[in-house]
Amino acid sequence: MKALIPEPKSRFFEVKCKDCGNKQIVFSHAASIVKCKVCGKELAKPTGGKAKLFAEILNTF
Ligand SMILES: [Zn+2]
Repeated sequence: MKALIPEPKSRFFEVKCKDCGNKQIVFSHAASIVKCKVCGKELAKPTGGKAKLFAEILNTF
């Protein structure tokens, strides 16, 4: 029998900062707060699993 193990689906998002429009790559399971390289706005926050995103997602890798 196959055990049902939830696979951690980690991926990368290309996000756009809502404040300044900067595009940046963010890891979906970021373990620390990700800030915009241009204006310093928080783009992602770790939650223990999938990071919570505060930016617009443009692409998924
Ligand atoms: Zn920004």
